[in-house]
Amino acid sequence: MMTMTCQECVEKLQPFLDRELSGAERLEVERHLTVCGHCADSFRFEEGILRVVGRCGRATYASEEFKARIRVVVQTAITDKH
Ligand SMILES: [Zn+2]
Repeated sequence: MMTMTCQECVEKLQPFLDRELSGAERLEVERHLTVCGHCADSFRFEEGILRVVGRCGRATYASEEFKARIRVVVQTAITDKH
C-alpha cells in the first residue's frame, strides 16, 4: 500500500493536530502513522506537548518559540533515523 513519505507526514503533523487538514489528508496521515513507528512516535510526542501546554493554561500557551524548538528536535531525530 502506498502512503505518504515520512517527510510529508512530519510536515503535516502540526496541521493534523491543529485540525487544519482536509478529511482526505487526515486519512493519509492516520494511515502513515499506523505503518510507520518513527512517525507514530513523533506524533505521540507532539500530541503530548499540546496536552501539557493545554493543561498549563494561557501563560505557557504563548510559548510558540518553545514548541518550535521541540519540533526541530523531533524532525532532526526522524531525519537521522532514516
Ligand atoms: Zn514515517
